[in-house]
Amino acid sequence: MSKKKVKKNVYFFGGGKADGKSSMKNLLGGKGANLAEMAGHPKLRIPVPAGFTITTDVCTAFYKNNNKYPRGLAEEVSKNLKKVEKAMGKKFNDPKNPLLLSVRSGARQSMPGMMETVLNIGLTSKTIPGLIKKSGSERFVYDAYRRLITMYSDVVMEKTLSKEPAEGKGIRQQLERLLDAAKKKRGVKMDTDLSAKDLKNLCEQYKKKVKQVLGKTFPDDAEKQLWGGISAVFTSWNGKRAIAYREIENIPHDWGTAVNVQTMVFGNMGETSATGVAFTRNPGNGDNNFYGEYLINAQGEDVVAGTRTPAPINKNSQSDTNKTELMLTQFMPKIYKQLDAIQNKLEKHYKDMQDIEFTVEDGTLYLLQTRVGKRNGPAAVKMAVDMVRSKLITKKEAVLRVRPEQLDELLHPIIDPVAEKKTKTFAKGLPAGPGGAVGQIVYDSDTAVKWHEKGKTVILVREETNPEDVEGMRASAAILTSRGGMTSHAALVARGWGKCCVVGCCDLSVDYVKKTVKCGNITLKEGDWISLNGATGLVYSGKLPTIDAAKENKLLDAYLKICDTFRTMKVRTNAETPADAKKARAFGAEGIGLFRTEHMFYGEGADKPLSKLRKMILSGSVKERTAALKELYPFVKKDVKGTLLAMVGLPVTIRLLDPPLHEFVPHQKQQQKVLAKELKIDMPTMEKRIALLKESNPMMGHRGVRLGVTYPEITEMQVRAIFEATAELVKAKKKVAAEIMIPVVGTDKEISDQNAIIARVRKEVLAKYKLKKLPVMVGTMIEIPRAALTAGKIAKVAEFFSFGTNDLTQMSYGFSRDDMGGFLVPYLDKEVLPRDPFQSLDTEGVGELIKIGIERGRKARPGLKVGICGEHGGDPASIDFCYKVNMDYVSCSPFRVPIARLAAAQSAVRG
Ligand code: PEP
Ligand code: MG
Repeated sequence: MSKKKVKKNVYFFGGGKADGKSSMKNLLGGKGANLAEMAGHPKLRIPVPAGFTITTDVCTAFYKNNNKYPRGLAEEVSKNLKKVEKAMGKKFNDPKNPLLLSVRSGARQSMPGMMETVLNIGLTSKTIPGLIKKSGSERFVYDAYRRLITMYSDVVMEKTLSKEPAEGKGIRQQLERLLDAAKKKRGVKMDTDLSAKDLKNLCEQYKKKVKQVLGKTFPDDAEKQLWGGISAVFTSWNGKRAIAYREIENIPHDWGTAVNVQTMVFGNMGETSATGVAFTRNPGNGDNNFYGEYLINAQGEDVVAGTRTPAPINKNSQSDTNKTELMLTQFMPKIYKQLDAIQNKLEKHYKDMQDIEFTVEDGTLYLLQTRVGKRNGPAAVKMAVDMVRSKLITKKEAVLRVRPEQLDELLHPIIDPVAEKKTKTFAKGLPAGPGGAVGQIVYDSDTAVKWHEKGKTVILVREETNPEDVEGMRASAAILTSRGGMTSHAALVARGWGKCCVVGCCDLSVDYVKKTVKCGNITLKEGDWISLNGATGLVYSGKLPTIDAAKENKLLDAYLKICDTFRTMKVRTNAETPADAKKARAFGAEGIGLFRTEHMFYGEGADKPLSKLRKMILSGSVKERTAALKELYPFVKKDVKGTLLAMVGLPVTIRLLDPPLHEFVPHQKQQQKVLAKELKIDMPTMEKRIALLKESNPMMGHRGVRLGVTYPEITEMQVRAIFEATAELVKAKKKVAAEIMIPVVGTDKEISDQNAIIARVRKEVLAKYKLKKLPVMVGTMIEIPRAALTAGKIAKVAEFFSFGTNDLTQMSYGFSRDDMGGFLVPYLDKEVLPRDPFQSLDTEGVGELIKIGIERGRKARPGLKVGICGEHGGDPASIDFCYKVNMDYVSCSPFRVPIARLAAAQSAVRG
């Protein structure tokens, strides 16, 4: 008879052994896999409190089977619990030497604070006396018991009920009010000032309250507590907060969480105990310094909750807020040395910055957790460069260490330092998130979301944040808290997102009822403006000016140089003024992929050329139009020449006039009158001409190449400007390379029509400047589906292709790129669309047209140069697609050039 192999549901770790390892993250969750690795890997063997992990498969099965566990799970748990007892030399539910347990979640990807935890499981009337005897501290035991009742009644008894408690009526808040009352009665401020008797009394009050509020008795049975905890963690995977977080972070709902059951070790056993959180390098700026915070006589949750200001572990971790606190180096020098050696070992082993949690129980150090530490953009870049220099990682690994979007933080606006110097600070806190932010104060998550939806820029001000605030934090431009340290919830979440954040502003008093925040004698209301500097932790009342932080950044340059050694696809920029071209070049742009000629008629200094353009548009005859074009010519030539010069040595793609002409017609009567006078026509004639230009579907109207076909003199003027500018620069021995690009092409015949004009003008300019050839190519945009499908014919008459994916998306879906906003949100909500196709390329549909276009184009013209110049050229996922279909380059706005360089390098590294 064949024996069916029973699936292993529980994995043990501890005592120098482990069933799992770090590569088993999918099954054991990040936390469980790392605990196994730390405990069991021969090179680590780090002191970890023994425990076991119940797999994510159990979670999935639990949900599939109507919240029932797989058969045999109870036996497996009990077998592993025996192993834990053996490793720790204590027994669960033992009256003399009881083992206490923690039960925590642990998904594949960290979801900080989104799921539940229960600590101190196993404290009952049977085990309490034994633990008091063993620990010698009645106070410690009742403090642990009080925490167990709080967490258990909240997480296991209340949160698993289908009904949510009314605002302020949650059991946790009710118990905390009892705690506050006890402190008030004693006239003390800190929990630690309460005596053993106080706490014992409090525990009795807690139990009564639980019974009264929830109608059930707090269980006095260790086994019951353990299974209650396990079920609550599995249930919390589908809690409201966890679901919302997964939606934001794109974590699949079917991954499930693992449950880690682990021996409790106590950082709150008195003055020989402590607990802390540390990073092997500074996550705020990337410095290679061991960095962390700890609290004497406390449990881990106290550090993260931000209710007490933690002390620095060493000098490198000091800040203005904590510099008077005793450092771990002074307080427990031997333990610090041991911890420092462990953190070194961990970073070398994992080859990345680690975020660790540790506890010292009565003079013995334990590591509770290690995981890859979250870091902001500037820190990610610095760490990657430093780790390559110290040979900890390869260059290839370094390329994958920074998410392309994180570079945005290095290119972020900051508060203008000059204005900052002149402004009195309102408050000062810890610099927890990058850049600077200016916004209107809101005091709760809902208002943040509502105001943000109305288009307001808000800054969320809280005493501290908790996972319930996540959506409001997301909607805010920045977060400011009056409590908590660099490892508090607000700091961790904001840093993960690269959002400006200042925490631990201890001089602020926040009043949620009055909706005010006060510091000294200044009080600010909801809606008042404040400005934050996320790099220094300074806060200002009012609206300070911001400037671009994108100045010279040597580390970013060094990092992008590493990336460039792998990158195969070029990165160009979309720019139309010499100033923008220069900026993009400084960011590493390797040419201009799109010079939108019409942009020279918008914005600063455009009045003169715009008035000439208007004259040309409203001309009534070829003669009138040719005269107006003649006036316009010097402006176009000057701009083209300046941009070619700024990009000397690199290609510049200049697109012929694209938008519908009526876009340039003046709307105000006064301006129309001035124009009529210049054209020597009366107002009725002017109005008639304007009316003639009106189109009901301008995006599909008289634009792009259609203008050139109907008004050849417009093309002629533009290409003459390009040829002459090039000729003059060639004569001046400048190495320039212009590329004339024809937009909105649907058939090869349109190009042939334009090519005839271009060839004639080229000939005339060559003769005028006595030159034999000019470095000017002629190509086209592919932005109409028909052009992609007939690319074989088009490539015969075009020397290069550039995919205009803005229009190509518009015309493939039939979505108006100008006003699809009205239905985009419901489309995204209902998952009819996975994402906004104008932001990130629809590879399935639009991408298919691109593939066809390239294949047919290159078949007709081998080696055909192909690029992209729609907005997607700056989107990392779309860039990866461009790499996969063998484009020669992507082109994006100047500020996205560094992001595109990194994304293209990552595509090449991933292959
Ligand atoms: C495009 O359509 O993708 C494009 C780059 O051109 P524009 O956005 O100017 O229409
Ligand atoms: Mg277009």
